[in-house]
Amino acid sequence: MREELIQRICDEIDKRKKEIIDFTLSLVKEPSENPPGDECKVVELIIKKCKSWGLPQPEIWCLEAHRPNLIVRIKGDGRGRSLILNAHTDTKPVGDVTEWSVDPGKPRILNGKLYGRGSADMKGSVAGILAAAMAIIKGAIPFNGELIIALTADEEAGSRFGVKVLIDRGLIADAMLITEPSGMKKSFDSLGLACRGAVLGKVVVHGTQMHSSLSDQGGCINASVKMAEVLMEFAVHLKEHLTYESHSLYPGGPTVNPGVILEGGVFYGVIPGKASFGFDLRIIPGMTLESVKKDIENFLYNLQKSDNDLKAELIIEAPPIDWFPSVEIERSHPLVYSCVEAAEKVLGISPNLMGVPFSTDGIHYAKAGIDMPIVSSFGPGLIKLAHAPDEYIEVQSVVDSAKIFAITAINYLMSS
Ligand SMILES: [Zn+2]
Repeated sequence: MREELIQRICDEIDKRKKEIIDFTLSLVKEPSENPPGDECKVVELIIKKCKSWGLPQPEIWCLEAHRPNLIVRIKGDGRGRSLILNAHTDTKPVGDVTEWSVDPGKPRILNGKLYGRGSADMKGSVAGILAAAMAIIKGAIPFNGELIIALTADEEAGSRFGVKVLIDRGLIADAMLITEPSGMKKSFDSLGLACRGAVLGKVVVHGTQMHSSLSDQGGCINASVKMAEVLMEFAVHLKEHLTYESHSLYPGGPTVNPGVILEGGVFYGVIPGKASFGFDLRIIPGMTLESVKKDIENFLYNLQKSDNDLKAELIIEAPPIDWFPSVEIERSHPLVYSCVEAAEKVLGISPNLMGVPFSTDGIHYAKAGIDMPIVSSFGPGLIKLAHAPDEYIEVQSVVDSAKIFAITAINYLMSS
């Protein structure tokens, strides 16, 4: 990309640095915790900012009025590639307030860090994307094709009201950049070429429901105790029974997390007749629901073969939350190159290309069978701060992100 255009983009962003930071702070101050989920107030702020920054009027796409998604289309001079820049406007709940050393109800900036729920995940990115579009428009940066900004609701709780609405209405482009925080030690030091998918389900263990005073009389199987045994086996040994091809982005393979939900028993006085644990298996590229299901069924079959008292069954969650495929983009894809070059220009660093541990909005495109190249994560902020107490984003990284997103977009849209 020509140096003069890059300079124009950077100048426009530097001129409005304070506005960009104030906008980020206003987004974080407006809660959009999910659950319960209501992005209206945040979206109102964004629509106002689009107007004052000269962006096209956003289209509002929603399944329910209080869960709006915003689409902003910026058309270039002629035909060419299209690119979606994606960020979500909801956040995880604040959680236990006593874990925070700052007041999560009063977001503010301390020592260059903007604290508050959703600052890193990912209202900083929302501000960065819109500021990038502002710089492209105000700087009259020429490009072909179309830049589409997609700001989604409900990413933190299943995306039913969010990216799935966009998929159902056919939003697609030549590529998509998901601007989730991707920093390991500092902002933009890494880029997620892939994200993990998931298989979600329960193992139900059956026992003999009876009076608890009779447990020493024989014939008593306490489902909760049996479930605990299975849970430990699952935690320690399931992984070695899962079939998957080793993958360079995920040298550690999938992760197995049993006990994310525990259920069992009815009340005092009753030996539990049924107990279950929920598990959350984070899968890597190449793994499918079918293969994981077969592996877990075999695992449970073998446990039951060596324990006559054990009766266990696998129940995969009902769709749509049964499973999500992992998402991966080729290293050589032009969007990856565009991102790397932008980080080099703005920060002088070349991001490490990695597989991020979490899932993103991209998994829903993959599950719908839409083969769109997706960069799973490249955005300001540190991965480890997402969902955590004392979440913050460095204000400078929001300003940097605006430059990086604008340069990435123009790079990708101008090359062919
Ligand atoms: Zn996020």
